[in-house]
Amino acid sequence: MISVKSLGAEESAMPQYEYLCSSCDKKFSSILTLADHDQGKVKCPKCGSTKVEQQWAAFFATTSKS
Ligand SMILES: [Zn+2]
Repeated sequence: MISVKSLGAEESAMPQYEYLCSSCDKKFSSILTLADHDQGKVKCPKCGSTKVEQQWAAFFATTSKS
């Protein structure tokens, strides 16, 4: 039986989220697992604030198909 359920997920596209820090207005993007995202483990890389606003515009599913 072939069961391809890799926990590494190296080859699958990772969701990239974009955030805007409401403390310092820094915009940044973060690649998170859904679990991390759900737990709100997102901090501004500039000021460390967790008051970040998610921007929904950026969701990249990268494919290497040409
Ligand atoms: Zn900030």
